[in-house]
Amino acid sequence: MVWNAPNGRRRRFLVVEDEADIADLLRLHLQDLDATVEICHNGRQALDLACRWQWNLIVLDLRLPEVDGLEICKAIRGRGADVPILMLTARSTEMDRVLGLEIGADDYLTKPFSPLELVARAKALLRRAERPAPASAAADNQLAIDDLVLDRSRHVASVGGKRVDLTAREFDLLWHFASHPGRVFTRAELLDAVWGYGHDGYEHTVNSHLNRLRAKIEHDPAHPEYLLTVWGVGYKMREPAP
Ligand code: CA
Repeated sequence: MVWNAPNGRRRRFLVVEDEADIADLLRLHLQDLDATVEICHNGRQALDLACRWQWNLIVLDLRLPEVDGLEICKAIRGRGADVPILMLTARSTEMDRVLGLEIGADDYLTKPFSPLELVARAKALLRRAERPAPASAAADNQLAIDDLVLDRSRHVASVGGKRVDLTAREFDLLWHFASHPGRVFTRAELLDAVWGYGHDGYEHTVNSHLNRLRAKIEHDPAHPEYLLTVWGVGYKMREPAP
């Protein structure tokens, strides 16, 4: 059965894997997701392909000739692309997991993996990426997560109808979270997205802005309901109540 792409056009996946038999296996199973699957065996070439074309999903092996998967992932995120990235790794330690997510991968899979699990992970990533934007009269300029409402045209936020005064940067940070509810962002990603630079030394900037935001929008900043900490990874905006 075909899992249809939402807009009637076939999805495009990029598979970066230097082992030919694994690459073939990936293509065999991923193309069932209504997708054309491009395979690339070399890290340098992958970097070029990943950044030059629009993809619906990138499956990235960690160990690759020339340029490894972490570097490719970093480069893709560094350009602000939010394509879902599924990392493949032969190493399964917790450290690798955190590292994989820190550099902007959305999920990871340890080899050897079952085709069923691969397809399930890919579907979950696509579902998240293809979820329609929240409908609203001024969808481009307004976002709401339950009681929290943001209006970008006026740079105004309110919680439960009560206006909250935010600096421009705090507003931008909150807007970034609210436009991707449920998605976890690392400090480095937030720096890139909101401040436009990614120097490691400035990650405390994110923490201090986040704490100030919490003090302003949370009922109890010690037990946040909107801006949640994902231990060892980063932060996320909770998803609106169904
Ligand atoms: Ca490899």
